[in-house]
Amino acid sequence: MASLLGNLFILAAPSGAGKSSLIKALMEKYEGNTNTPMQVSVSHTTRQPRPGEIDGVHYHFVTRKQFESLIEQGVFFEYAEVFGNYYGTSRVTIEQTLYRGIDVFLDIDWQGARQVKELMPDTCGIFILPPSLEVLEQRLNHRGQDSEDVIAGRMAQAVDEMSHFNEFGHIIVNDDFATALSELEAIVSAQRLRSVKQQIRHQPLLDALLGTA
Ligand code: GDP
Ligand code: ADP
Ligand code: 5GP
Repeated sequence: MASLLGNLFILAAPSGAGKSSLIKALMEKYEGNTNTPMQVSVSHTTRQPRPGEIDGVHYHFVTRKQFESLIEQGVFFEYAEVFGNYYGTSRVTIEQTLYRGIDVFLDIDWQGARQVKELMPDTCGIFILPPSLEVLEQRLNHRGQDSEDVIAGRMAQAVDEMSHFNEFGHIIVNDDFATALSELEAIVSAQRLRSVKQQIRHQPLLDALLGTA
């Protein structure tokens, strides 16, 4: 696994902190850039689609029965129950994408992050914090896609999710969006430039420079 060229990133945060927006902005910024190929992993979930969410784009929406059958088939790299619904990441997609040298971004909760780090200790974990609890609630309300009950439930879970911040190697406070995005880019660059990855990427150059071809 350590020789896989692609880097695996996990973004975790309380709901509403901005992880989906940050990942989306990062993908848009690097779209078509062949030097830094990156992809978001599309999870399976049993939650209902929000307005505008497209099956296969934002999530693979499945029933509880279908999800349980996928668990039995060993399809998932990790899965967890979050806010009363199942969420899971498919194993084959992640492994094939990393193998092809494409960086993969997972938008998953702390329970899933623990499972992934167990399987791939090389994973780069990033925790996104909101600037305050008040702002977090405002963002959930402004997003306008969840009912009052759902928002209350997510706010109640926010402190619990945030209490896992120190299981992640990096922390970004998403106050000003542009600042948070450039901090995310800096982490991604540093991860890509690690010697272990550069050696694989630049083997022909190293051979030419050292006469080891
Ligand atoms: P969001 O928090 O507003 O993005 O709401 P979602 O319903 O999209 O996600 C709810 C929670 O489930 C978030 O904490 C996500 O990080 C987490 N989640 C999403 N996909 C996965 C997954 O594949 N595995 C795990 N373990 N958690 C996931
Ligand atoms: P998450 O995926 O963590 O649940 P989202 O990316 O959906 O969060 O963000 C929640 C809401 O907050 C969205 O409406 C988004 O546009 C908004 N938002 C995200 N980051 C910021 C920011 N830095 N400043 C203001 N609003 C933000
Ligand atoms: P927006 O268009 O505001 O960025 O996203 C619309 C909704 O879809 C938001 O609630 C956002 O959380 C969700 N969303 C968009 N892209 C992703 C993604 O890649 N992963 C997850 N988990 N949610 C997403």
